[in-house]
Amino acid sequence: MSTKELTTLTQAATGHGLFAGHLSRWRESLLPTCKLCRETEETSLHLWGECPALGLERTQLSSVGTGGRNKTPHRLILDFFEHEKVRGLMNVNSEWLKESDPNNPPT
Ligand SMILES: [Zn+2]
Repeated sequence: MSTKELTTLTQAATGHGLFAGHLSRWRESLLPTCKLCRETEETSLHLWGECPALGLERTQLSSVGTGGRNKTPHRLILDFFEHEKVRGLMNVNSEWLKESDPNNPPT
């Protein structure tokens, strides 16, 4: 497993990543609401397990046609968080964080 994959899995498991719910704890000006569905707090668990805007991606990644039945649990999680729609959200959140305070990134 690469360092990048380990980082992705750790962020998915702990929620300490570029998720609006986590970032809003560091920046009062940032809203915790999920940018995809606008229904609840954007956390790793929300994105992975319940965000209605990612239902199709969850279904596709775990389907027989994409080899989902043969994937290990960690491969399913990696594929989900590396999906272009989720990566796009993380990129938006990264820019959002830089714009809110470029001199004080969270650790
Ligand atoms: Zn959502």
